[in-house]
Amino acid sequence: MPKFPERVFSGMQPTHTLHLGNYLGAMVNWIRMQETHSCIYCVVDVHAITIAQDPKELAQNIREVTASYLACGLDPERSIIFNQSQVAEHAELAWVFNCVARLGWLNRMTQFKEKAGKDRENASVGLYAYPNLMAADILVYKGTHVPVGEDQKQHLELARDIAQKFNNDFSESIAAHGHGEAFFPLPEPMITGPATRVMSLRDGTKKMSKSDASDFSRISLTDDADMIAQKIRKAKTDPEPLPSEAKGLAGRPEAENLVGIYAALARKSKEAVLGEFGGAQFSTFKPVLAELAVERLAPIAAEMKRLLADRRHIDSVLSNGAERARTIAAPIMRDVKDVVGLLSTRGVG
Ligand code: ATP
Ligand code: MG
Repeated sequence: MPKFPERVFSGMQPTHTLHLGNYLGAMVNWIRMQETHSCIYCVVDVHAITIAQDPKELAQNIREVTASYLACGLDPERSIIFNQSQVAEHAELAWVFNCVARLGWLNRMTQFKEKAGKDRENASVGLYAYPNLMAADILVYKGTHVPVGEDQKQHLELARDIAQKFNNDFSESIAAHGHGEAFFPLPEPMITGPATRVMSLRDGTKKMSKSDASDFSRISLTDDADMIAQKIRKAKTDPEPLPSEAKGLAGRPEAENLVGIYAALARKSKEAVLGEFGGAQFSTFKPVLAELAVERLAPIAAEMKRLLADRRHIDSVLSNGAERARTIAAPIMRDVKDVVGLLSTRGVG
Protein backbone atom coordinates (compact mmCIF):
# COMPACT_ATOMS: atom_id res chain seq x y z
CA MET A 1 0.00 0.00 0.00
CA PRO A 2 1.54 3.33 -1.02
CA LYS A 3 1.85 6.03 1.63
CA PHE A 4 -0.82 8.73 1.49
CA PRO A 5 -0.33 12.17 3.06
CA GLU A 6 -1.93 12.18 6.52
CA ARG A 7 -5.30 13.89 6.71
CA VAL A 8 -7.85 13.78 9.52
CA PHE A 9 -11.58 13.70 8.85
CA SER A 10 -14.46 13.31 11.30
CA GLY A 11 -18.04 14.48 11.82
CA MET A 12 -20.99 14.68 14.18
CA GLN A 13 -24.67 14.63 13.32
CA PRO A 14 -26.83 17.67 14.05
CA THR A 15 -29.56 15.42 15.44
CA HIS A 16 -29.57 17.12 18.86
CA THR A 17 -27.28 19.10 21.14
CA LEU A 18 -23.89 17.46 21.60
CA HIS A 19 -23.38 15.53 24.82
CA LEU A 20 -20.63 14.41 27.14
CA GLY A 21 -20.05 11.22 25.13
CA ASN A 22 -19.45 13.18 21.93
CA TYR A 23 -17.11 15.47 23.86
CA LEU A 24 -15.04 12.84 25.67
CA GLY A 25 -15.19 10.15 23.00
CA ALA A 26 -14.38 12.29 19.98
CA MET A 27 -14.04 16.03 20.50
CA VAL A 28 -11.08 15.97 22.89
CA ASN A 29 -9.15 14.01 20.26
CA TRP A 30 -10.27 16.32 17.46
CA ILE A 31 -8.92 19.30 19.36
CA ARG A 32 -5.63 17.56 20.05
CA MET A 33 -5.15 16.44 16.44
CA GLN A 34 -5.32 20.02 15.19
CA GLU A 35 -1.83 20.45 16.66
CA THR A 36 -0.26 17.80 14.46
CA HIS A 37 -2.47 17.26 11.40
CA SER A 38 -4.44 18.97 8.72
CA CYS A 39 -8.02 18.32 9.85
CA ILE A 40 -11.47 18.43 8.32
CA TYR A 41 -14.37 18.52 10.79
CA CYS A 42 -17.82 18.22 9.32
CA VAL A 43 -21.35 18.75 10.64
CA VAL A 44 -22.89 15.74 8.94
CA ASP A 45 -26.37 17.05 8.20
CA VAL A 46 -26.95 14.62 5.33
CA HIS A 47 -26.55 11.77 7.82
CA ALA A 48 -29.03 13.44 10.18
CA ILE A 49 -31.90 13.13 7.68
CA THR A 50 -31.62 9.33 7.65
CA ILE A 51 -34.05 9.75 10.57
CA ALA A 52 -36.98 12.19 10.21
CA GLN A 53 -36.01 15.75 11.24
CA ASP A 54 -38.06 18.89 11.62
CA PRO A 55 -36.62 21.24 8.93
CA LYS A 56 -36.55 24.33 11.18
CA GLU A 57 -34.95 22.44 14.03
CA LEU A 58 -32.41 20.83 11.71
CA ALA A 59 -31.19 24.19 10.41
CA GLN A 60 -30.91 25.44 14.00
CA ASN A 61 -29.13 22.26 15.11
CA ILE A 62 -26.56 22.63 12.32
CA ARG A 63 -25.69 26.08 13.66
CA GLU A 64 -25.73 24.82 17.22
CA VAL A 65 -23.36 21.93 16.54
CA THR A 66 -21.07 24.34 14.66
CA ALA A 67 -21.11 26.64 17.69
CA SER A 68 -20.21 23.64 19.89
CA TYR A 69 -17.26 22.82 17.64
CA LEU A 70 -15.94 26.35 17.98
CA ALA A 71 -16.73 26.61 21.71
CA CYS A 72 -14.91 23.36 22.43
CA GLY A 73 -11.79 24.70 20.73
CA LEU A 74 -11.84 23.79 17.04
CA ASP A 75 -10.14 26.58 15.14
CA PRO A 76 -11.69 27.44 11.74
CA GLU A 77 -8.43 29.07 10.63
CA ARG A 78 -6.46 25.91 11.20
CA SER A 79 -9.08 23.24 10.46
CA ILE A 80 -11.78 23.07 7.81
CA ILE A 81 -15.22 23.30 9.44
CA PHE A 82 -18.37 23.03 7.33
CA ASN A 83 -21.68 21.22 6.93
CA GLN A 84 -21.76 18.20 4.67
CA SER A 85 -24.70 19.21 2.43
CA GLN A 86 -22.74 22.20 1.11
CA VAL A 87 -20.23 19.89 -0.59
CA ALA A 88 -22.13 17.79 -3.13
CA GLU A 89 -19.15 15.50 -3.74
CA HIS A 90 -19.98 13.59 -0.52
CA ALA A 91 -23.29 12.46 -2.01
CA GLU A 92 -21.76 11.83 -5.42
CA LEU A 93 -19.05 9.54 -4.09
CA ALA A 94 -21.57 7.86 -1.79
CA TRP A 95 -23.50 6.72 -4.86
CA VAL A 96 -20.39 5.15 -6.34
CA PHE A 97 -19.82 3.43 -2.99
CA ASN A 98 -23.42 2.18 -2.94
CA CYS A 99 -22.33 0.26 -6.00
CA VAL A 100 -19.07 -0.97 -4.42
CA ALA A 101 -20.30 -2.06 -0.97
CA ARG A 102 -22.09 -5.42 -0.77
CA LEU A 103 -25.50 -6.01 0.79
CA GLY A 104 -23.95 -8.70 2.96
CA TRP A 105 -21.55 -6.16 4.46
CA LEU A 106 -24.29 -3.70 5.33
CA ASN A 107 -26.48 -6.45 6.75
CA ARG A 108 -23.92 -6.90 9.52
CA MET A 109 -23.99 -3.29 10.72
CA THR A 110 -25.17 -3.18 14.31
CA GLN A 111 -25.99 0.55 14.30
CA PHE A 112 -28.64 -0.01 11.64
CA LYS A 113 -30.14 -2.84 13.66
CA GLU A 114 -30.24 -0.70 16.80
CA LYS A 115 -31.60 2.41 15.11
CA ALA A 116 -34.15 0.64 12.91
CA GLY A 117 -35.42 -1.32 15.92
CA LYS A 118 -38.23 -3.80 15.44
CA ASP A 119 -39.89 -2.00 12.55
CA ARG A 120 -37.01 -2.55 10.11
CA GLU A 121 -39.22 -2.53 7.00
CA ASN A 122 -40.12 1.04 7.81
CA ALA A 123 -36.55 2.36 8.22
CA SER A 124 -35.29 4.70 5.51
CA VAL A 125 -33.02 3.37 2.77
CA GLY A 126 -30.66 6.17 3.82
CA LEU A 127 -30.33 4.74 7.33
CA TYR A 128 -29.33 1.42 5.81
CA ALA A 129 -26.79 2.96 3.41
CA TYR A 130 -25.47 5.36 6.09
CA PRO A 131 -22.06 3.64 6.33
CA ASN A 132 -21.48 4.04 2.59
CA LEU A 133 -22.00 7.80 2.90
CA MET A 134 -19.69 7.81 5.90
CA ALA A 135 -17.00 6.08 3.84
CA ALA A 136 -17.50 8.72 1.12
CA ASP A 137 -17.22 11.55 3.68
CA ILE A 138 -13.76 10.36 4.61
CA LEU A 139 -12.49 9.15 1.25
CA VAL A 140 -13.64 12.12 -0.83
CA TYR A 141 -10.69 13.84 0.91
CA LYS A 142 -8.52 10.71 0.92
CA GLY A 143 -8.73 10.96 4.72
CA THR A 144 -6.24 8.71 6.51
CA HIS A 145 -7.10 9.15 10.22
CA VAL A 146 -10.58 9.25 11.72
CA PRO A 147 -10.96 10.13 15.41
CA VAL A 148 -14.29 8.64 16.60
CA GLY A 149 -15.93 6.97 19.58
CA GLU A 150 -15.90 3.20 19.96
CA ASP A 151 -19.39 2.82 18.46
CA GLN A 152 -18.07 3.84 15.03
CA LYS A 153 -15.42 1.10 14.84
CA GLN A 154 -17.55 -1.19 12.68
CA HIS A 155 -18.38 1.60 10.22
CA LEU A 156 -14.68 2.43 9.90
CA GLU A 157 -13.91 -1.20 9.13
CA LEU A 158 -16.53 -1.04 6.40
CA ALA A 159 -14.96 2.15 5.02
CA ARG A 160 -11.64 0.30 4.81
CA ASP A 161 -13.33 -2.61 3.01
CA ILE A 162 -14.92 -0.22 0.52
CA ALA A 163 -11.59 1.55 -0.14
CA GLN A 164 -9.87 -1.80 -0.60
CA LYS A 165 -12.54 -3.16 -2.94
CA PHE A 166 -12.53 0.02 -5.03
CA ASN A 167 -8.72 -0.20 -5.29
CA ASN A 168 -8.96 -3.86 -6.35
CA ASP A 169 -11.96 -3.63 -8.69
CA PHE A 170 -10.50 -0.70 -10.60
CA SER A 171 -6.80 -1.51 -10.22
CA GLU A 172 -6.08 -1.45 -13.95
CA SER A 173 -7.90 1.80 -14.54
CA ILE A 174 -6.31 3.34 -11.43
CA ALA A 175 -2.86 2.53 -12.77
CA ALA A 176 -3.78 3.61 -16.32
CA HIS A 177 -4.89 7.00 -15.01
CA GLY A 178 -1.58 7.51 -13.25
CA HIS A 179 -2.67 6.84 -9.66
CA GLY A 180 -0.28 3.97 -9.07
CA GLU A 181 -1.24 0.95 -7.02
CA ALA A 182 -4.05 2.36 -4.92
CA PHE A 183 -6.46 5.24 -5.36
CA PHE A 184 -7.82 5.42 -1.81
CA PRO A 185 -5.96 5.06 1.50
CA LEU A 186 -7.40 2.63 4.06
CA PRO A 187 -8.59 5.07 6.74
CA GLU A 188 -7.52 4.30 10.29
CA PRO A 189 -9.88 4.71 13.22
CA MET A 190 -8.39 6.65 16.14
CA ILE A 191 -10.36 5.41 19.12
CA THR A 192 -8.34 6.68 22.03
CA GLY A 193 -8.62 8.49 25.31
CA PRO A 194 -10.16 7.72 28.66
CA ALA A 195 -13.81 7.53 27.57
CA THR A 196 -14.27 5.98 24.15
CA ARG A 197 -17.76 4.76 25.07
CA VAL A 198 -19.71 6.85 27.58
CA MET A 199 -22.87 5.06 28.65
CA SER A 200 -26.42 6.35 29.20
CA LEU A 201 -27.11 7.70 32.70
CA ARG A 202 -30.35 5.71 32.73
CA ASP A 203 -28.96 2.38 31.53
CA GLY A 204 -25.29 1.45 31.87
CA THR A 205 -25.54 -1.09 29.04
CA LYS A 206 -26.60 1.48 26.38
CA LYS A 207 -24.34 4.17 24.99
CA MET A 208 -25.14 7.82 25.66
CA SER A 209 -26.80 9.12 22.46
CA LYS A 210 -28.24 12.28 21.03
CA SER A 211 -31.19 10.32 19.71
CA ASP A 212 -32.14 8.68 23.04
CA ALA A 213 -35.71 9.71 23.87
CA SER A 214 -34.83 10.53 27.48
CA ASP A 215 -33.00 13.80 28.09
CA PHE A 216 -31.98 12.36 31.47
CA SER A 217 -29.90 9.73 29.69
CA ARG A 218 -27.27 12.31 28.71
CA ILE A 219 -25.47 15.42 29.87
CA SER A 220 -25.72 17.99 27.08
CA LEU A 221 -23.06 20.59 26.47
CA THR A 222 -25.71 23.28 27.01
CA ASP A 223 -27.02 21.99 30.36
CA ASP A 224 -26.70 24.51 33.19
CA ALA A 225 -25.22 23.68 36.59
CA ASP A 226 -28.60 22.77 38.14
CA MET A 227 -29.53 20.50 35.26
CA ILE A 228 -26.16 18.71 35.34
CA ALA A 229 -26.47 18.18 39.12
CA GLN A 230 -30.04 16.91 38.75
CA LYS A 231 -29.15 14.48 35.95
CA ILE A 232 -26.20 13.06 37.89
CA ARG A 233 -28.28 12.82 41.08
CA LYS A 234 -30.92 10.84 39.19
CA ALA A 235 -28.39 8.68 37.32
CA LYS A 236 -29.05 4.99 37.82
CA THR A 237 -26.67 3.26 40.26
CA ASP A 238 -26.57 0.14 42.41
CA PRO A 239 -26.76 0.18 46.21
CA GLU A 240 -23.11 -0.82 46.87
CA PRO A 241 -20.38 1.70 47.77
CA LEU A 242 -17.61 2.31 45.24
CA PRO A 243 -14.88 -0.35 45.18
CA SER A 244 -11.24 0.52 45.88
CA GLU A 245 -9.92 -1.14 42.73
CA ALA A 246 -11.00 -1.16 39.07
CA LYS A 247 -11.68 -4.90 39.06
CA GLY A 248 -14.44 -4.28 41.61
CA LEU A 249 -16.38 -2.43 38.86
CA ALA A 250 -16.92 -5.68 36.92
CA GLY A 251 -20.64 -6.38 36.49
CA ARG A 252 -21.49 -2.87 37.72
CA PRO A 253 -21.92 -0.94 34.43
CA GLU A 254 -23.51 2.17 35.96
CA ALA A 255 -20.80 2.50 38.62
CA GLU A 256 -18.12 1.92 36.00
CA ASN A 257 -19.62 4.59 33.77
CA LEU A 258 -19.73 7.28 36.46
CA VAL A 259 -16.19 6.49 37.58
CA GLY A 260 -15.07 6.56 33.93
CA ILE A 261 -16.71 9.95 33.38
CA TYR A 262 -15.05 11.34 36.50
CA ALA A 263 -11.68 9.95 35.43
CA ALA A 264 -11.96 11.41 31.93
CA LEU A 265 -13.03 14.84 33.20
CA ALA A 266 -10.31 14.89 35.85
CA ARG A 267 -7.75 13.50 33.36
CA LYS A 268 -6.92 10.70 35.82
CA SER A 269 -7.05 6.91 35.62
CA LYS A 270 -10.02 4.96 37.02
CA GLU A 271 -7.59 3.41 39.53
CA ALA A 272 -6.61 6.84 40.79
CA VAL A 273 -10.26 7.87 41.13
CA LEU A 274 -11.06 4.70 43.09
CA GLY A 275 -7.96 5.25 45.22
CA GLU A 276 -9.60 8.51 46.25
CA PHE A 277 -13.26 7.45 46.46
CA GLY A 278 -13.09 3.69 47.21
CA GLY A 279 -15.63 2.87 49.95
CA ALA A 280 -17.63 6.07 49.33
CA GLN A 281 -21.40 5.95 48.77
CA PHE A 282 -22.87 7.39 45.56
CA SER A 283 -24.52 10.06 47.71
CA THR A 284 -20.99 11.37 48.35
CA PHE A 285 -19.51 10.71 44.90
CA LYS A 286 -22.33 12.13 42.76
CA PRO A 287 -22.15 15.75 44.02
CA VAL A 288 -18.37 15.82 43.52
CA LEU A 289 -18.80 14.43 40.00
CA ALA A 290 -21.48 17.05 39.27
CA GLU A 291 -19.19 19.82 40.45
CA LEU A 292 -16.37 18.62 38.22
CA ALA A 293 -18.68 18.28 35.20
CA VAL A 294 -19.97 21.83 35.72
CA GLU A 295 -16.43 23.14 36.02
CA ARG A 296 -15.46 21.57 32.70
CA LEU A 297 -18.67 22.18 30.74
CA ALA A 298 -19.89 25.59 31.92
CA PRO A 299 -17.29 27.57 29.93
CA ILE A 300 -18.27 25.65 26.77
CA ALA A 301 -21.97 26.41 27.29
CA ALA A 302 -21.23 30.10 27.89
CA GLU A 303 -19.11 30.34 24.74
CA MET A 304 -21.77 28.56 22.69
CA LYS A 305 -24.37 31.06 23.83
CA ARG A 306 -22.13 33.94 22.83
CA LEU A 307 -21.45 32.42 19.40
CA LEU A 308 -25.08 31.60 18.70
CA ALA A 309 -26.04 35.23 19.17
CA ASP A 310 -24.19 35.94 15.90
CA ARG A 311 -25.74 33.69 13.28
CA ARG A 312 -23.95 35.44 10.44
CA HIS A 313 -20.58 34.54 11.89
CA ILE A 314 -21.53 30.86 12.20
CA ASP A 315 -22.85 30.81 8.64
CA SER A 316 -19.70 32.42 7.30
CA VAL A 317 -17.51 29.86 9.10
CA LEU A 318 -19.54 27.13 7.37
CA SER A 319 -19.46 28.70 3.92
CA ASN A 320 -15.72 29.41 4.09
CA GLY A 321 -15.10 25.87 5.29
CA ALA A 322 -17.30 24.43 2.52
CA GLU A 323 -15.37 26.36 -0.10
CA ARG A 324 -12.05 25.03 1.19
CA ALA A 325 -13.46 21.50 1.43
CA ARG A 326 -14.72 21.67 -2.16
CA THR A 327 -11.29 22.58 -3.49
CA ILE A 328 -10.00 19.27 -2.08
CA ALA A 329 -13.02 17.10 -2.87
CA ALA A 330 -13.78 18.26 -6.42
CA PRO A 331 -10.53 17.11 -8.09
CA ILE A 332 -10.64 13.79 -6.20
CA MET A 333 -14.22 13.23 -7.38
CA ARG A 334 -13.21 14.08 -10.96
CA ASP A 335 -10.45 11.48 -10.71
CA VAL A 336 -12.94 8.93 -9.35
CA LYS A 337 -15.17 9.52 -12.38
CA ASP A 338 -12.23 9.03 -14.74
CA VAL A 339 -11.23 5.82 -12.96
CA VAL A 340 -14.78 4.45 -13.05
CA GLY A 341 -15.32 5.52 -16.68
CA LEU A 342 -18.04 8.09 -16.03
CA LEU A 343 -17.42 10.37 -18.99
CA SER A 344 -17.01 13.99 -18.13
CA THR A 345 -16.79 16.58 -20.88
CA ARG A 346 -15.22 19.32 -18.80
CA GLY A 347 -13.16 21.74 -20.79
CA VAL A 348 -14.66 20.59 -24.12
CA GLY A 349 -16.28 23.07 -26.53
P1 ATP B 1 -27.10 9.79 17.28
O1 ATP B 1 -27.84 9.17 18.44
O2 ATP B 1 -27.91 10.79 16.51
O3 ATP B 1 -26.41 8.77 16.41
P2 ATP B 1 -24.66 10.18 18.70
O4 ATP B 1 -24.74 10.64 20.10
O5 ATP B 1 -24.38 8.74 18.46
O6 ATP B 1 -25.98 10.67 17.96
P3 ATP B 1 -23.01 10.97 16.47
O7 ATP B 1 -23.19 12.30 15.84
O8 ATP B 1 -23.60 9.78 15.81
O9 ATP B 1 -23.57 11.08 17.98
O10 ATP B 1 -21.46 10.70 16.72
C1 ATP B 1 -20.51 11.77 16.81
C2 ATP B 1 -19.22 11.24 17.41
O11 ATP B 1 -19.38 11.00 18.81
C3 ATP B 1 -18.75 9.90 16.82
O12 ATP B 1 -17.34 9.93 16.73
C4 ATP B 1 -19.18 8.89 17.85
O13 ATP B 1 -18.38 7.73 17.83
C5 ATP B 1 -18.98 9.67 19.14
N1 ATP B 1 -19.87 9.19 20.20
C6 ATP B 1 -21.22 9.16 20.14
N2 ATP B 1 -21.72 8.68 21.29
C7 ATP B 1 -20.65 8.40 22.09
C8 ATP B 1 -20.52 7.88 23.41
N3 ATP B 1 -21.60 7.56 24.12
N4 ATP B 1 -19.29 7.72 23.93
C9 ATP B 1 -18.18 8.05 23.20
N5 ATP B 1 -18.24 8.54 21.94
C10 ATP B 1 -19.46 8.74 21.39
MG1 MG C 1 -24.40 8.00 16.47
